[in-house]
Amino acid sequence: MLQSKLFTKTQQTAPKDELSKNAILLQKAGYIEKLMSGVYSYLYLGWRVHKNIENIIREEMDAINGQEILMPALQPKNIWDKTGRWEKLSEIMYQFKDRSDHLVGLATTHEEIITEIVKQHIKSYKDLPRYIYQIQGKFRDEPRAKSGLIRGREFFMKDLYSFHANEEDLDIYYKKVIESYKKIFSRCGLDVLIIEASGGTFTKKFSHEFMVLSSAGEDRVIYCDKCFFAQNKEISKNQPSKPCPSCNNPLKEDKGIEVGNVFKLGTKFSQQQDALYVDKDGKKKPIIMASYGIGLGRLMGTIVEIHHDANGIIWNEEVAPFKYHLLSLGNNDNTVKLAKKVYTTCQEQGIEILYDDRDISSGQKLQDADLLGIPTRLVIGNKTGGKIELKKRSESKTKLVTIDQL
Ligand code: ATP
Ligand code: MG
Repeated sequence: MLQSKLFTKTQQTAPKDELSKNAILLQKAGYIEKLMSGVYSYLYLGWRVHKNIENIIREEMDAINGQEILMPALQPKNIWDKTGRWEKLSEIMYQFKDRSDHLVGLATTHEEIITEIVKQHIKSYKDLPRYIYQIQGKFRDEPRAKSGLIRGREFFMKDLYSFHANEEDLDIYYKKVIESYKKIFSRCGLDVLIIEASGGTFTKKFSHEFMVLSSAGEDRVIYCDKCFFAQNKEISKNQPSKPCPSCNNPLKEDKGIEVGNVFKLGTKFSQQQDALYVDKDGKKKPIIMASYGIGLGRLMGTIVEIHHDANGIIWNEEVAPFKYHLLSLGNNDNTVKLAKKVYTTCQEQGIEILYDDRDISSGQKLQDADLLGIPTRLVIGNKTGGKIELKKRSESKTKLVTIDQL
């Protein structure tokens, strides 16, 4: 991609109405643009990052036998009435009448809808277990949408649902999903704590949250930095600086961002919605369920909160919009010739490269490169003497290489 052709521009100053680092940096760099509180457009570079995150999640979901589907955001009230959640979620759910006077809502989540679908297809213990997921847009009228991509009112979620004939089978898969989530977050360059949490709107127990420690977080986490003990402060009976219940090391308290969660739903939905299967003994039983969520925008925002410095974003290779950022400094003929050669060679080999060929100052190019945060910068200028200066965005040291070495 030639940067001179990119429709987005970087901004020198931070947007006035933003408090969070992710919203400020992503908008300055032209990755996203705010439409209203909690609602953002993903621009060319931002959508590339979002798609990379989506691909990581899809690969890991497929690896644990998830079958991908797509459910509608627009949903009728009657299905939500079966579980009483039309009323219960009425503050956070966008609900309105269509032209025929029918009440409809925009999806905050999809337990009700997936349960209706699944009961048409899963009839016998022979049809279990099954794992179904989607990557889809959710709407929530969040009361405090001030954290940029971390708390959107419209956002993409990966929601996976699993269906089982017995608890043991659910336990096995639940653990598999936890392992899969660890891979997803590690591929996104994030360290997570897996914490015991309350079940929120679904259940009083059996839920885990994946937390990234960050001052931008809205949750409080009590954790041990010597072992794996971690709890959401909401439910924890432990206090910071008191001994860890599993290893005695003093506990800590910090803010955390919940990037994902896993819930054992049990038979709550299947009972209320009559999702029954015939078991080996010929008896009808409610299907045992679990749901597993990850917010894609929240994940992207969290990566920026964790990986940035005073000059801009620092993407890792897997999520970056491009792998290489090529800058030609000055308009000396040889410099431009070499830069074009590097660019076309990369293009031919399918290597993702953004080439800053704009007619602007070297200082501005270098500053924009730091702001955009592409993992490897390649500079060709009068001072690189026919070679290419290679620098990782995350490091300060540089290295001169020839085009063949590169
Ligand atoms: P929170 O407590 O932060 O509001 P939640 O418990 O409501 O989260 P779930 O309903 O379980 O979250 O949603 C699953 C996942 O979707 C969360 O773990 C998070 O990654 C993401 N998510 C939830 N709400 C939002 C939001 N408003 N904007 C972006 N992502 C979100
Ligand atoms: Mg919520």
